Amino acid sequence: MTEAPYTLQRSMPRQRGYDVVVAGGGPAGCGAAIAAARLGARVLLLEATGCLGGMGTSALVSAWSHLSNGRETVIGGLMLALVEAMYERGHIAPSYDRSFWTTRHDRGFGYDPEGYKRLLDEWCAAAGVEVRFFSRVIDAEADAATGTVEGVVVHGVEGYAFVETPTLVDASGDATVADLCGAGTLRAGRDTERIMPPTLCGLVEGIDYDTFHRGLQQEAVERALRDGFFSQPDRHVPGLFRSGPRHATLNAGHLFGTDALDQAGLSEAMRRGRALAEEYTEFFRRYVPGCQDARLIATASLLGVRESRRVVGEYQLDYADYASRRHFPDQVAIYCKQVDVHVYDASPEEYERYRRSFEERDALAPGESYGIPYGVLVPRGWGNLWVAGRSVSSDVPVHGAIRDQPACLMLGQAAGTAALQALREGQRADALDTARLVGALREHGANLPQATLSVEMTRSEPPSRQ
Ligand SMILES: Cc1cc2nc3c(=O)[nH]c(=O)nc-3n(C[C@H](O)[C@H](O)[C@H](O)COP(=O)(O)OP(=O)(O)OC[C@H]3O[C@@H](n4cnc5c(N)ncnc54)[C@H](O)[C@@H]3O)c2cc1C
Repeated sequence: MTEAPYTLQRSMPRQRGYDVVVAGGGPAGCGAAIAAARLGARVLLLEATGCLGGMGTSALVSAWSHLSNGRETVIGGLMLALVEAMYERGHIAPSYDRSFWTTRHDRGFGYDPEGYKRLLDEWCAAAGVEVRFFSRVIDAEADAATGTVEGVVVHGVEGYAFVETPTLVDASGDATVADLCGAGTLRAGRDTERIMPPTLCGLVEGIDYDTFHRGLQQEAVERALRDGFFSQPDRHVPGLFRSGPRHATLNAGHLFGTDALDQAGLSEAMRRGRALAEEYTEFFRRYVPGCQDARLIATASLLGVRESRRVVGEYQLDYADYASRRHFPDQVAIYCKQVDVHVYDASPEEYERYRRSFEERDALAPGESYGIPYGVLVPRGWGNLWVAGRSVSSDVPVHGAIRDQPACLMLGQAAGTAALQALREGQRADALDTARLVGALREHGANLPQATLSVEMTRSEPPSRQ
């Protein structure tokens, strides 16, 4: 296929009247939209699919990692309220109780994606968020020289529309909107050496949980490898995460080398992912006790993308911060998931690199956590644009730690709160009073234990504008 430039001129409806526009309704986008709306903002949430929840629903990644550091609850604010509400409604997998977010440092637990969708629908409606489904942001009107965005072009069932906004939160997971605006971004595999592979997840039913234990999986993987069972000899199989009485989220089958920002690569990954999901279900049936009746009910409609594009922010959270368990005066979330950079290929050396990092070198001890400062949300030099979720500003190892849903939702809450503060106080995103922001987040339940606050954010470099 040849790609020659083509100039298209069209007029489209111009829509206005919002304080905050959020692109993407995953955990980050929902956190941003609900937080801003509860504070009184007129919020528009644009979501490309037909439901909220992002990877947790449309990609069937229906599990939350690390909510407690083993001594106390680390999450706070909307995220904690969400877990409690899901628990009260019976949407958390049967074997999990409150200890998983109060005293246990566990690698995560499953939830019912349908219950999650409904709860997010309800919370958005109650807060007064205008949610538009099947609405994809495809372009932006912005001036990179002043770091100002005027609005976004949205494609939906009625065609194109230009939505004007004084503040914009990019929660697309891929920093797509920040990139369209002309903000600095890093693309995995182009600006970094490699891309952490995605997985197409699925829903498996028919598991006998009296017999099945996650601890039995790795030994079964080793046996299947010795038998030459798999089409790719990948030792790293996250596996089944219980999400209901007899069903589980299937997270197995790395799609090595896939660039989720490449149309052909993305399409091929969906096809190959469906074949791998069937292969791994057969593996569970044959090799893992309690799974002999397992059946793949569905694969996800969205690819489970771990890494794609990140923004270049006012602060880049890096491995040295992680290793020292650094906390910041302007942190807007604290978290306790360890570095989790999946294998880049199926070689034994890669598995050993992953295993050593995950289980030994980068494991967090009980009671440990690290801070995520405000500056990771702000594209460097931008005044009314924030990026929340898995595409915030960090290096590769830290991205592997903070890309999980709880951190994304807390960062979304911070971005939505910051956007409204910027609008009401006349502050730029890159010059926001962060002491005030931390105060507002604390008032809404955020767990931000820092003793000292700072009006100025922590930056990687001096401000680009004075
Ligand atoms: C295979 C896999 C397993 C994982 N396991 C876990 C786990 O066990 N525990 C855990 O906590 N986390 C896990 N994660 C990580 C986590 O699910 C994601 O990193 C997290 O959901 C990212 O949140 P987000 O809001 O940034 O983006 P997403 O969840 O990706 O949501 C982005 C939303 O934006 C929408 N969107 C995208 N582009 C546009 C656009 N242009 N316009 C409008 N809407 C748009 C998408 O449709 C989507 O709904 C896993 C991820 C993967 C891929």
